[in-house]
Amino acid sequence: MSSPDGTRPRAPAAEPPCMVPGCGALSERSLALAEARKVFPALPEGRRAHLCRAHYKEWKKGTKKERELQRLGW
Ligand SMILES: [Zn+2]
Repeated sequence: MSSPDGTRPRAPAAEPPCMVPGCGALSERSLALAEARKVFPALPEGRRAHLCRAHYKEWKKGTKKERELQRLGW
């Protein structure tokens, strides 16, 4: 399944906007929707959650505690 010219369209303009309601900034990161919803429960349905830099930072902050707990649990 390779395209004839081997190029993958990755224009910045094609990046979807941040999916956090009311934000709409350009997304910089994408992560599993289930993970993102732990911090942003209002995210719309989809396979991936696209977040802008600010919301990705917020998400990292919001999941940090849980990840530390998981590490302790292992
Ligand atoms: Zn955002």
